[in-house]
Amino acid sequence: MGLLTGKKALIFGIANNKSIAYGIAKKFKEEGAELAISYAGEKLESRVVPIAEELGAKLCVPCDVTCDEDIKRAFGVIAGDFGNIDILIHSIAYAPGEALKGRYIDTARDAFKLSMDISAYSLVALCKAAEPIMNEWGSVINMSYFGAEKVVTNYNLMGVAKAALECSTRYLACDLGEKKIRVNSISAGPIKTLAASGIGGFKNILAHIEERSPLHQNVTIEDVGDTAAFLASDLSKMITGETLHVDCGYNVIGI
Ligand code: NAD
Repeated sequence: MGLLTGKKALIFGIANNKSIAYGIAKKFKEEGAELAISYAGEKLESRVVPIAEELGAKLCVPCDVTCDEDIKRAFGVIAGDFGNIDILIHSIAYAPGEALKGRYIDTARDAFKLSMDISAYSLVALCKAAEPIMNEWGSVINMSYFGAEKVVTNYNLMGVAKAALECSTRYLACDLGEKKIRVNSISAGPIKTLAASGIGGFKNILAHIEERSPLHQNVTIEDVGDTAAFLASDLSKMITGETLHVDCGYNVIGI
């Protein structure tokens, strides 16, 4: 019997098999969860549908999280064809490339709005849509990064969006705690993915972590999957509103 046997997980954020959400979904399947997968839209369909098949997902449904109608439609399909859920994974972020290099002060209003919408507000919208179909002791997990807490060169706008995401996690944990639903954030160390490739000088960040983190290495999507399985399981039943670092200890380092 797996850690997640008998639980149903709805996963947002798989773009390919390098995605953190893929590492999470794979671990969840190993631990006995039933999976439903949502992807950003048509452009990703040919890539994500075979992954959903590989993972034995019961459902694979498109949803652009910037569109309320799309969220409503997707959750209608999920409620009808997959039923109530126990786990919601939010592994979604976006910022235009020009906002991930140079000076933060140069961030354009449109870039700010779009990034906050996709990377932070979407968690609120997905929690709201999931609330009616989420079982007691359900677990919502989202993905953050250290750039929410401290200045990381070039992370810029995404750092501000992640700060909003982590803060939302605490407010949502309070709202949904009344229904015994938990909301937590994983602050993962840097991993080479599609989203990360947009961050200026990303290779240098990876090298820096290897040199400076207490464990002297970088994390993998499998490492994040392991922690997500813990946070999704009843082993973490009394943990909510938390940001848990999975970063080889880098966040504790001062001078
Ligand atoms: P990724 O590119 O594989 O995943 C990002 C996902 O966001 C993609 O699946 C993409 O389709 C989805 N997305 C973007 N806009 C969307 C929209 N409008 N509607 C629905 N989905 C949309 O990269 P990743 O690194 O796996 O990123 C997943 C999460 O992990 C993000 O929140 C990211 O900020 C976070 N994170 C990444 C790292 C890292 O170093 N890779 C570290 C810490 C946290």
